[in-house]
This record gives sequence, C-alpha cells and structure tokens, in this order.
Amino acid sequence: MKLDTKALRYLTTEDWRVLTAVEMGSKNHEIVPTPLITQLSGLRGGSGVHKCISTLAKANLIARMKNAKYDGYRLTYGGLDYLALHTHLKRQTLYSTGNCIGVGKESDIYVVASSTGAQLILKIHRLGRISFRSIKNNRDYLKHRSSASWMYMSRLSALKEYAFMKVLKENGFRVPEPVAQSRHTVVMELIDAFPLRQIQEVPDPAGLYADLIDIVLRLATFGLIHGDFNEFNILIREEQTPAVEEARNTETEDSESKPGITLIPVIIDFPQMVSVDHTNAEMYFDRDINCIKQFFERRFSFVSDEPGPFFADAKKLAGGPKSKRLDIEVEASGFSRKMAKELGKYMQEVGVDGDGRHDQIGHVEAGDPDTSSTSSIEEASSDGLLQDPGGNDSSDGLFESSKEDEAE
Ligand code: ADP
Ligand code: MG
Repeated sequence: MKLDTKALRYLTTEDWRVLTAVEMGSKNHEIVPTPLITQLSGLRGGSGVHKCISTLAKANLIARMKNAKYDGYRLTYGGLDYLALHTHLKRQTLYSTGNCIGVGKESDIYVVASSTGAQLILKIHRLGRISFRSIKNNRDYLKHRSSASWMYMSRLSALKEYAFMKVLKENGFRVPEPVAQSRHTVVMELIDAFPLRQIQEVPDPAGLYADLIDIVLRLATFGLIHGDFNEFNILIREEQTPAVEEARNTETEDSESKPGITLIPVIIDFPQMVSVDHTNAEMYFDRDINCIKQFFERRFSFVSDEPGPFFADAKKLAGGPKSKRLDIEVEASGFSRKMAKELGKYMQEVGVDGDGRHDQIGHVEAGDPDTSSTSSIEEASSDGLLQDPGGNDSSDGLFESSKEDEAE
C-alpha cells in the first residue's frame, strides 16, 4: 500500500463529502449502499453524487462491491489515507508529504513537513496488511474478517500509540513528541537518530545496557511494559556532553579533548504496550528484557553479570508513592480498557508479534488488503498537498466522520 497523493489536489468539496459519507456508512455496513452514500453526503440530486463516486472509484479511494442483496462501495485503505491526510491538512498539522522511510508489517513511515517547514514523521498504521501474508494458522480466522475490521483495528492502534506517547512524554520519558492523530495515522516529532539495530559499536556497552534496563524498569514503575522493546524500536541519539562543551567554550589548553558524546535512547512504537496487570505481563516483560540481553550479547559481546531484572520485583515498583499509574491514565484519556482488549485480541489472533522483522523500504513482503492497490509516489511531492481554507479542527474520534469533519 503506497501513499499516492496525486488525487488530493483535484478532489472537489463534493468529492470529499461523498468520501466522508462512505466512511460514515462503513460504520454499520460492510458494503455501503449507494442510496445511503447519497443520503449521508447531504448532497442533493443523484447525478452529482454519481460523478463523485466515479471520481473516487477511479482514484481507488472507494471500491465497488457487490453482495447478494445490493451493490455498493467500501472505503479502501487509500480512501482512509486521504481522509486522514485531509484532516491533518485542515488542522495544519502537516503541509506536505515526503519520502517513505520505512515499511513494516503493520505500518508505513513517511517523513512529512509541517506548515512551518519542520520535518515530522507520519506513521500510517496498517494492521490488516498482515492478513495477506501466508500465515497458515491465521487463514481461517482472517477469511471471516471484514475490511471494516482492519480499518477499525488500525485506527485503534494509532489511537493507542498516540495516547501512550502523550502520557509518556508528559512524564519525562524520551519518546517523540506526539503532534496529532487522525484515524489510522499519527504525526510525531522526527527523531534524528539511528535505530540501535544499525549501530555496530558503542564506546560503553555496559552503560547503554544499564540505561535501557533502567527504561524498562521506569516504565514498570509507571505501570507499563513496552511489549516490543527491541533494537528496531530504540533510536540512539547522539548528544554533546555538556561538561565538554563548557570546557571547549572556555578554550582551556585541553584543546586536544574530543567532544564528549552521550548516547541517548529514544523509544518508539507503542501499539503493543501493556499494563503490568495484563494477564501475560510477565511474558512481555521478560521478552523485552531478553531482547536487550540477546542483542547486546550478539552485537557487542556484552553480558551483564547481574541476573534479571525480574518481573515480580519490577511489578512491586508500580504505583509506588512517587509514581503515577500511566496504564490507568491512558484509559481515562480515551483509549479505554475495552478498546485495549479488542486490539490486543486482534493482534494476538493475527499474529502481530513485534517487529523483529521490520524491514526498511524495499522489502515489503506483505500484500495489500485493498484489492484496489493504488499506484505509487514514494518520492516527495515537496510542494503542498492541498490547501484547504476551511482549517477547522474537528474532534478525532474513532469514526470521526461526523458533520464537523466533512469537507466544507
Ligand atoms: P512499526 O510498528 O512498523 O515497527 P515503528 O514505529 O517502529 O513502526 O517505525 C518503523 C521505523 O521507522 C523505525 O524503526 C524507525 O527507523 C523509523 N521511525 C519511526 N518513528 C520515527 C521517528 N519518530 N523518528 C525517526 N524515525 C522513526
Ligand atoms: Mg517498530
């Protein structure tokens, strides 16, 4: 599934209304009947709506479907992408899209630009994509899943990621600053750093190891387990050590001294985060710890002489006098326990199990749940995508295709 933004430019206000209508109709209909699309669009007269439908179908934003009883349309992933982009543009959280820098099993990552020209990351969650991989034991299960379901799950995944990033950031964790969320997408700060996976050597493996274990424990103190704490989801930022900078500024004789570089881990990728109270919390905790241990041994030949840390001890830290329970805070923020359960169940059933196999672009093994796969841009359309003067904000619920989100 590529992001093809070409059609964003020429869609009319009416086209957007009709696209939004298909999204709204998808809430209750796997295939949205054409008369319902007309009704939900609020546009008068059949012919105008039909023209819009035909434009949208040509751009692969909706797909014609037949079932036993009636004909209709469903939203494609491309259509959902457009609606999300349209919302981000209206809110002015982004201005243009750039290169795709990563294609994972469950997401596509783009560098985008804000209206002030700052570089940001757009993460598009694509949970359904896995359904077209030949994973044997999921086949039967997936046969019965509707497209509405993978869209809904991708939305949940984005909502969850955004909610967690927000509370983590607010509580001093080093994570990208979350900027906005719409449907199955999250816009966030771009971290100028390499994933640990790409780092061959570090000056002080023991120090970095200790920092990473400390993050896992600090998360537990706040009631959380990352759930996918591995070398792909830990970005290593280089920061100048302040003391050295100071020394250089004062121009002492010690001009030989190399600038001190500190390696700062920044954590990303939160859709699999769980509470320390989760039934399988211990398994997730141990897996996170073991990922780090194994990676450090393989890559840096570093083995800690301390055993653990162990889940039982970590759990005791949770909710102590000086820490908040962020697992509970997130529930209050809109990502409810019910949603967490739904998403967790789906992830388990379709085998979303960490991104150890996350590939950089060029290695997409996954298929596309949309039969109507769009053409690609990949490369930047570095000029603006679309300028929408009606930049009103809209509340971004799960099915946010409410009146306020319609194109004006
Ligand atoms: P997935 O769920 O598909 O694994 P991630 O959130 O882990 O998605 O992102 C995939 C890759 O994209 C990361 O390994 C990292 O290289 C890059 N990436 C993601 N978010 C950012 C960010 N905020 N800043 C810089 N690079 C990022
Ligand atoms: Mg990842």
